[in-house]
Amino acid sequence: MRDSVWFFDEIYRIKGATASLNTLPVLKKAFLHQMSKEEMESLYKNRLVKSTSGRDMYDNIMKTAINRTCPLCSLRKVSTLDHYLPQAHYPQYTLLRVNLYPACMECNKAKTDKVNPRKAEQTYHPFFDKLRGILWLSAEYRDDPSPALHYYVNGNVPNTYALRDRMRYHFNELALGDLYASYAGQAFSDIKDALQRVYRRKGAAGVQKYLARQWRSYRKSNPNSWETVFYETLKNCPAFYSGGFNNIAMITFP
Ligand SMILES: [Zn+2]
Repeated sequence: MRDSVWFFDEIYRIKGATASLNTLPVLKKAFLHQMSKEEMESLYKNRLVKSTSGRDMYDNIMKTAINRTCPLCSLRKVSTLDHYLPQAHYPQYTLLRVNLYPACMECNKAKTDKVNPRKAEQTYHPFFDKLRGILWLSAEYRDDPSPALHYYVNGNVPNTYALRDRMRYHFNELALGDLYASYAGQAFSDIKDALQRVYRRKGAAGVQKYLARQWRSYRKSNPNSWETVFYETLKNCPAFYSGGFNNIAMITFP
Protein backbone atom coordinates (compact mmCIF):
# COMPACT_ATOMS: atom_id res chain seq x y z
CA MET A 1 0.00 0.00 0.00
CA ARG A 2 2.78 2.42 1.00
CA ASP A 3 4.65 1.60 -2.24
CA SER A 4 1.60 2.25 -4.36
CA VAL A 5 1.02 5.62 -2.67
CA TRP A 6 4.65 6.56 -3.39
CA PHE A 7 4.22 5.42 -6.98
CA PHE A 8 1.04 7.43 -7.53
CA ASP A 9 2.65 10.48 -5.91
CA GLU A 10 5.73 10.29 -8.17
CA ILE A 11 3.72 9.77 -11.34
CA TYR A 12 1.44 12.67 -10.41
CA ARG A 13 4.37 15.03 -9.81
CA ILE A 14 6.12 14.07 -13.05
CA LYS A 15 2.94 14.60 -15.08
CA GLY A 16 1.98 17.74 -13.15
CA ALA A 17 5.32 19.43 -13.87
CA THR A 18 4.58 19.39 -17.61
CA ALA A 19 0.82 19.98 -17.34
CA SER A 20 0.19 16.44 -18.55
CA LEU A 21 -2.20 15.28 -15.83
CA ASN A 22 -4.78 14.90 -18.60
CA THR A 23 -2.85 11.88 -19.86
CA LEU A 24 -3.28 9.95 -16.60
CA PRO A 25 -5.72 7.09 -16.98
CA VAL A 26 -9.04 6.95 -15.23
CA LEU A 27 -8.82 4.12 -12.75
CA LYS A 28 -10.90 1.09 -13.55
CA LYS A 29 -12.95 -0.07 -10.62
CA ALA A 30 -11.31 -3.50 -10.68
CA PHE A 31 -8.10 -1.94 -9.40
CA LEU A 32 -9.87 -0.64 -6.37
CA HIS A 33 -11.67 -3.81 -5.43
CA GLN A 34 -14.81 -2.69 -7.26
CA MET A 35 -15.31 0.28 -5.00
CA SER A 36 -18.19 2.48 -6.00
CA LYS A 37 -18.07 6.27 -6.19
CA GLU A 38 -20.01 6.41 -2.91
CA GLU A 39 -17.54 4.04 -1.23
CA MET A 40 -14.58 6.13 -2.42
CA GLU A 41 -16.19 9.28 -1.08
CA SER A 42 -16.79 7.57 2.23
CA LEU A 43 -13.12 6.48 2.30
CA TYR A 44 -12.10 10.11 1.72
CA LYS A 45 -14.41 11.36 4.46
CA ASN A 46 -13.36 8.73 6.98
CA ARG A 47 -9.62 8.94 6.29
CA LEU A 48 -9.23 12.69 5.82
CA VAL A 49 -12.19 14.57 7.21
CA LYS A 50 -13.22 12.49 10.23
CA SER A 51 -10.11 10.74 11.59
CA THR A 52 -7.89 12.81 13.94
CA SER A 53 -4.71 12.54 11.86
CA GLY A 54 -6.72 13.07 8.67
CA ARG A 55 -8.44 16.09 10.18
CA ASP A 56 -5.01 17.58 11.06
CA MET A 57 -3.95 17.13 7.45
CA TYR A 58 -7.23 18.66 6.24
CA ASP A 59 -6.78 21.68 8.55
CA ASN A 60 -3.13 22.10 7.57
CA ILE A 61 -4.01 22.15 3.87
CA MET A 62 -6.78 24.70 4.55
CA LYS A 63 -4.23 26.90 6.33
CA THR A 64 -2.04 27.11 3.21
CA ALA A 65 -4.54 29.57 1.67
CA ILE A 66 -3.01 33.03 2.00
CA ASN A 67 -5.41 35.26 3.94
CA ARG A 68 -7.98 32.44 3.52
CA THR A 69 -8.31 33.47 -0.14
CA CYS A 70 -9.14 30.89 -2.83
CA PRO A 71 -6.12 30.27 -5.12
CA LEU A 72 -8.43 29.59 -8.08
CA CYS A 73 -10.26 32.94 -8.16
CA SER A 74 -7.96 35.03 -5.89
CA LEU A 75 -11.06 36.62 -4.45
CA ARG A 76 -13.55 34.53 -2.47
CA LYS A 77 -12.79 32.87 0.87
CA VAL A 78 -11.84 29.20 1.07
CA SER A 79 -14.41 26.83 2.52
CA THR A 80 -13.53 23.38 1.20
CA LEU A 81 -10.73 21.22 -0.23
CA ASP A 82 -10.73 20.76 -3.98
CA HIS A 83 -9.42 17.67 -5.80
CA TYR A 84 -7.60 18.77 -8.96
CA LEU A 85 -8.30 15.39 -10.55
CA PRO A 86 -11.88 14.66 -9.46
CA GLN A 87 -12.18 11.81 -6.99
CA ALA A 88 -15.10 10.29 -8.88
CA HIS A 89 -12.83 9.41 -11.81
CA TYR A 90 -9.37 9.34 -10.25
CA PRO A 91 -9.84 7.64 -6.86
CA GLN A 92 -6.15 6.67 -6.76
CA TYR A 93 -5.30 10.37 -6.19
CA THR A 94 -8.08 11.09 -3.69
CA LEU A 95 -5.77 11.31 -0.66
CA LEU A 96 -2.67 12.57 -2.46
CA ARG A 97 -1.38 15.83 -0.99
CA VAL A 98 -0.45 17.37 -4.37
CA ASN A 99 -3.96 16.73 -5.67
CA LEU A 100 -5.55 18.71 -2.82
CA TYR A 101 -5.72 22.43 -2.10
CA PRO A 102 -8.15 24.80 -0.42
CA ALA A 103 -10.77 26.50 -2.58
CA CYS A 104 -14.03 28.42 -2.33
CA MET A 105 -17.26 26.53 -2.84
CA GLU A 106 -18.10 28.33 -6.10
CA CYS A 107 -14.78 27.46 -7.78
CA ASN A 108 -15.03 23.92 -6.44
CA LYS A 109 -18.42 23.55 -8.11
CA ALA A 110 -17.50 25.34 -11.35
CA LYS A 111 -14.34 23.30 -11.92
CA THR A 112 -14.70 20.79 -14.66
CA ASP A 113 -15.16 17.11 -13.90
CA LYS A 114 -14.13 16.27 -17.45
CA VAL A 115 -12.08 13.14 -17.85
CA ASN A 116 -8.95 13.25 -20.00
CA PRO A 117 -9.49 16.77 -21.38
CA ARG A 118 -7.14 18.17 -23.99
CA LYS A 119 -3.93 19.67 -22.62
CA ALA A 120 -5.14 23.23 -23.20
CA GLU A 121 -8.45 22.43 -21.48
CA GLN A 122 -7.10 21.93 -18.00
CA THR A 123 -7.63 24.44 -15.21
CA TYR A 124 -4.86 26.23 -13.30
CA HIS A 125 -3.03 23.95 -10.86
CA PRO A 126 -1.92 25.83 -7.72
CA PHE A 127 0.98 23.39 -7.12
CA PHE A 128 2.58 23.39 -10.53
CA ASP A 129 1.58 26.54 -12.41
CA LYS A 130 3.83 29.48 -11.58
CA LEU A 131 2.53 32.94 -12.41
CA ARG A 132 4.65 34.95 -9.98
CA GLY A 133 6.11 38.01 -11.69
CA ILE A 134 3.77 37.73 -14.69
CA LEU A 135 1.20 40.51 -15.16
CA TRP A 136 -1.43 38.22 -16.68
CA LEU A 137 -4.69 40.06 -16.02
CA SER A 138 -5.91 42.98 -18.17
CA ALA A 139 -9.19 44.77 -18.78
CA GLU A 140 -10.77 46.75 -21.56
CA TYR A 141 -12.76 49.89 -20.81
CA ARG A 142 -16.31 50.03 -22.15
CA ASP A 143 -18.68 52.92 -21.72
CA ASP A 144 -21.83 51.81 -23.45
CA PRO A 145 -24.27 52.47 -21.85
CA SER A 146 -22.18 53.29 -18.74
CA PRO A 147 -18.55 52.66 -17.62
CA ALA A 148 -17.74 48.96 -17.24
CA LEU A 149 -14.69 46.70 -17.55
CA HIS A 150 -14.19 43.53 -19.57
CA TYR A 151 -11.47 41.40 -17.93
CA TYR A 152 -9.29 38.91 -19.82
CA VAL A 153 -6.04 36.92 -19.63
CA ASN A 154 -3.49 38.87 -21.68
CA GLY A 155 -0.64 37.62 -23.88
CA ASN A 156 2.06 38.14 -21.21
CA VAL A 157 1.63 34.54 -20.03
CA PRO A 158 4.20 32.28 -21.73
CA ASN A 159 2.58 29.36 -23.48
CA THR A 160 5.07 26.82 -22.13
CA TYR A 161 3.12 23.63 -21.41
CA ALA A 162 0.07 25.52 -22.76
CA LEU A 163 0.01 27.76 -19.66
CA ARG A 164 -1.56 30.73 -21.49
CA ASP A 165 -4.22 28.53 -23.11
CA ARG A 166 -4.94 26.85 -19.79
CA MET A 167 -5.20 30.17 -17.93
CA ARG A 168 -7.73 31.36 -20.51
CA TYR A 169 -9.63 28.09 -20.20
CA HIS A 170 -9.53 28.37 -16.38
CA PHE A 171 -10.75 31.99 -16.58
CA ASN A 172 -13.73 30.97 -18.74
CA GLU A 173 -14.63 27.76 -16.91
CA LEU A 174 -14.73 29.53 -13.54
CA ALA A 175 -16.43 32.63 -15.03
CA LEU A 176 -13.79 34.89 -13.48
CA GLY A 177 -14.41 37.66 -16.03
CA ASP A 178 -18.03 37.98 -14.85
CA LEU A 179 -16.96 37.78 -11.22
CA TYR A 180 -14.35 40.56 -11.54
CA ALA A 181 -16.63 42.71 -13.73
CA SER A 182 -19.32 42.53 -11.07
CA TYR A 183 -16.91 43.69 -8.34
CA ALA A 184 -15.68 46.43 -10.69
CA GLY A 185 -19.31 47.51 -11.23
CA GLN A 186 -19.69 48.10 -7.50
CA ALA A 187 -16.32 49.90 -7.35
CA PHE A 188 -17.36 52.29 -10.14
CA SER A 189 -20.41 53.20 -8.12
CA ASP A 190 -18.33 53.61 -4.95
CA ILE A 191 -15.75 56.02 -6.43
CA LYS A 192 -18.05 58.22 -8.55
CA ASP A 193 -18.58 60.90 -5.88
CA ALA A 194 -14.85 60.98 -4.97
CA LEU A 195 -13.85 61.43 -8.63
CA GLN A 196 -16.38 64.22 -9.17
CA ARG A 197 -15.01 66.07 -6.14
CA VAL A 198 -11.39 65.71 -7.32
CA TYR A 199 -12.41 66.88 -10.81
CA ARG A 200 -14.06 70.05 -9.43
CA ARG A 201 -10.82 71.05 -7.68
CA LYS A 202 -8.09 69.68 -9.95
CA GLY A 203 -9.63 68.76 -13.29
CA ALA A 204 -8.89 65.69 -15.43
CA ALA A 205 -5.18 65.63 -14.46
CA GLY A 206 -6.17 65.46 -10.79
CA VAL A 207 -8.53 62.54 -11.44
CA GLN A 208 -5.83 60.72 -13.37
CA LYS A 209 -3.36 61.27 -10.52
CA TYR A 210 -5.90 59.99 -7.99
CA LEU A 211 -6.46 56.81 -10.05
CA ALA A 212 -2.70 56.29 -10.49
CA ARG A 213 -2.14 56.59 -6.73
CA GLN A 214 -4.78 53.94 -6.07
CA TRP A 215 -3.25 51.71 -8.75
CA ARG A 216 0.26 51.92 -7.23
CA SER A 217 -1.07 50.97 -3.81
CA TYR A 218 -3.15 47.99 -5.04
CA ARG A 219 -0.32 46.81 -7.31
CA LYS A 220 1.99 46.45 -4.30
CA SER A 221 -0.56 44.22 -2.60
CA ASN A 222 -1.39 42.04 -5.64
CA PRO A 223 -0.41 43.02 -9.21
CA ASN A 224 -3.07 40.70 -10.69
CA SER A 225 -6.06 41.59 -8.55
CA TRP A 226 -9.24 42.93 -10.19
CA GLU A 227 -8.69 46.17 -8.21
CA THR A 228 -5.15 46.71 -9.52
CA VAL A 229 -6.31 46.18 -13.10
CA PHE A 230 -9.40 48.34 -12.45
CA TYR A 231 -7.27 51.38 -11.51
CA GLU A 232 -4.59 50.62 -14.10
CA THR A 233 -7.14 50.57 -16.93
CA LEU A 234 -8.90 53.73 -15.75
CA LYS A 235 -5.73 55.78 -15.18
CA ASN A 236 -4.77 55.00 -18.80
CA CYS A 237 -8.17 55.93 -20.20
CA PRO A 238 -8.61 59.67 -21.05
CA ALA A 239 -12.28 59.07 -21.97
CA PHE A 240 -12.90 58.02 -18.38
CA TYR A 241 -10.82 60.43 -16.32
CA SER A 242 -11.74 63.50 -18.37
CA GLY A 243 -15.45 63.09 -17.68
CA GLY A 244 -16.63 59.54 -18.46
CA PHE A 245 -16.95 58.91 -14.72
CA ASN A 246 -20.02 61.19 -14.72
CA ASN A 247 -21.89 58.44 -16.61
CA ILE A 248 -21.31 55.77 -13.96
CA ALA A 249 -24.59 54.03 -13.20
CA MET A 250 -25.19 54.02 -9.46
CA ILE A 251 -25.97 50.68 -7.86
CA THR A 252 -28.70 51.25 -5.37
CA PHE A 253 -30.02 48.74 -2.89
CA PRO A 254 -33.43 48.91 -1.29
ZN1 LIG B 1 -12.51 30.55 -5.77
